[in-house]
Amino acid sequence: MHIIPMEYHRRFMTAAHAAGFRIIDYGPAPDGTPLLVAEHTPPQPLLSLYLSAGIHGDEPAGPHALCKLMERQWFDPQIAWHIHPLLNPRGTAARTRETPDGIDLNRDYQHATAPETRAHKTWLTRHHRHYHAAISLHEDWESTGFYLYEIHDPATPPLGWAVLQTVEPLLGLDHAAEIDGFPARNGYLNPDADASLANNPHWPEQLWLRRHHTPTSLTFETPTSAPLPTRILAHIIALQNTVAQLLAPRINDTFDI
Ligand SMILES: [Zn+2]
Repeated sequence: MHIIPMEYHRRFMTAAHAAGFRIIDYGPAPDGTPLLVAEHTPPQPLLSLYLSAGIHGDEPAGPHALCKLMERQWFDPQIAWHIHPLLNPRGTAARTRETPDGIDLNRDYQHATAPETRAHKTWLTRHHRHYHAAISLHEDWESTGFYLYEIHDPATPPLGWAVLQTVEPLLGLDHAAEIDGFPARNGYLNPDADASLANNPHWPEQLWLRRHHTPTSLTFETPTSAPLPTRILAHIIALQNTVAQLLAPRINDTFDI
């Protein structure tokens, strides 16, 4: 189930068109591969959400999860969606975390040295994009279970704990006290965004999004040691739970109860 970018794009685009999404190529990448975003913008959206996957080329579960959800037409048409299914097609083709130039795109969002990052930031900035939440799908070679990062404005309620509860029966959680240098509790990582921004010039995508485009940033991580179908399902369940939590306060309005 390795991903071949052009094949993946064809499949994703077919599903996205059938689901009523507009596809935009905001690239291309230096090798000519498109950089795709699928957009759906209803007139009065209940929510505006950003999703991305495939920024690391050796983490296939996220792109597969987004494609399967698109094929099932799961994306609620009352929500405004911006979906980047494969942020690093060159790394994906090479099955490497980084681009062929050795750049980790998820450490490149302050200085944008890679063409992929520059194109993505330009796209985000052009229309002053703002989202209720931004969610990125990742995988981890070293983890023993599912975990997530949540960086959110104190005024917005945390979503991550309920997501972890939902995924735990399927995949188990990583219970390490420290993950990737951050303190962790039962798979929940809540790094201090301001401290991270001040101390680290190598901003990941979600730190940039949290700073400029959203009050709630989530990063899901599945353990690569688990079977791929289980990891794909974990991302799907985590996303479904997140969207259900975000929609819950708006349900009354929708049904006029
Ligand atoms: Zn990753």
